[in-house]
Amino acid sequence: MIGFYFLRQFSIILVAFHLIQFMTFKDLGLSAPILKAVSKQGYESPSVIQEKAIPLIIKGKDVLASAQTGTGKTAGFTLPMLHNLSENKKEGKRKIRGLILTPTRELAAQVYDNVKSYSEYLTIKSTVIFGGVNQNPQVKTLRGGIDILIATPGRLLDLCGQGEINLSKVEFFVLDEADRMLDMGFVHDIKRVIKLLPNRRQNLLFSATFSKEIKQLANQFLTNPVAVEAAPENSTAEKIVQRMIRVDNGLKTALVIKLITDGNWQQVLIFTRTKWGANKLSEKLSKRKISSAAIHGNKSQNARTKALAGFKDGSIRVLVATDIAARGLDIPLLPHVVNYELPNISEDYVHRIGRTGRAGESGEAISLVCIDEVGYAKDIEKLLGEKFDFEIFEGFEPVDKPSEKKPHQQRNNRRRGTGKKKFSNPKGGGNNRKGGNSRSKKRY
Ligand code: AMP
Repeated sequence: MIGFYFLRQFSIILVAFHLIQFMTFKDLGLSAPILKAVSKQGYESPSVIQEKAIPLIIKGKDVLASAQTGTGKTAGFTLPMLHNLSENKKEGKRKIRGLILTPTRELAAQVYDNVKSYSEYLTIKSTVIFGGVNQNPQVKTLRGGIDILIATPGRLLDLCGQGEINLSKVEFFVLDEADRMLDMGFVHDIKRVIKLLPNRRQNLLFSATFSKEIKQLANQFLTNPVAVEAAPENSTAEKIVQRMIRVDNGLKTALVIKLITDGNWQQVLIFTRTKWGANKLSEKLSKRKISSAAIHGNKSQNARTKALAGFKDGSIRVLVATDIAARGLDIPLLPHVVNYELPNISEDYVHRIGRTGRAGESGEAISLVCIDEVGYAKDIEKLLGEKFDFEIFEGFEPVDKPSEKKPHQQRNNRRRGTGKKKFSNPKGGGNNRKGGNSRSKKRY
């Protein structure tokens, strides 16, 4: 009787232990060369989206995945795609069998880097194409034959039009960051690309948010998709500490310099709402001997690549970016993100702060909120379903009254010389003030 009791307890413990054991990449059914590449990346266990999406994709399902950047979504679609393509080898000259469409050049380049790393031990060849650079080297690589193409829509359609790309043998079609694709006005381009694909193929759609338009698009090209979710819609990564600091517009530069120098931050990504604002802030930081570069749509591809490389290797301490340029930037373990201005589209806030606290690491996202942006902060609170504690920094107490105009209009005015506030602010505050660390938390 006693023996039976212990046996039963022991089997309960065994079952419980089995249930709480972490899933491994091997459990997901990936082949040995892919497991070897994943292990080389230092990944110990699959992320939530990987755990959910990989087995479904291996089974051949169309997948509609809700996953924000930083959740490991790229490996989530790349690993099973590599698995299926390599298990089902094709003889003869290489044809494009996998197509990954991304909204920005940076994201395309990053996804390509990932595909290359994950396929290191396979015979699969991949390449990336995007606009803003000479097409000839891209065409040369394409003519040599490739299996997986990562592309932005414009250059893809261009080269298809020139007869350099044939998409009729595509087996896998991935639409990455579909929400941003639509924001950037790519909907017609996407539809044109889909028309060039064969009817029989597997489709994957990844998006951080799910608007009505995304769902409509999904209905048009996914077949009986299985929906998977990495985190609740529009929720921010758990390990990101979010801080909202109320400060007047004219004191933001001084405060950001104070935060960087007092905190001895070595790698910080700052978001501005305009390209002009990004340039201006970057210049001001450089003048204060804080190495910095701006990254936005008006910069040449080479300048963008150089700025990003400098930021990654530590030679550039601050990268000032607009939303579109920053989309998809993958900077591992980025510790600080600053919203110099809050975005007027609340979803962009989620994307921005997703640059920190990546793949389970902790990070801090600080937003500088002037009086005219309090409304945007409230919208973000609504979207996230949480309330922020607004902080006031001693020496940076806000005094501005709400203006008649929107913040971006004020900036334009300042540019023309009206109401211009200098860095050494008229209230004698900013970087020279004492007591920056003695911030007091107040509810606004
Ligand atoms: P993504 O969301 O695809 O942009 O990935 C964000 C970061 O997480 C990248 O730096 C990946 O290399 C990293 N990553 C992806 N999967 C894992 C994993 N299972 N474990 C640890 N890091 C990962």
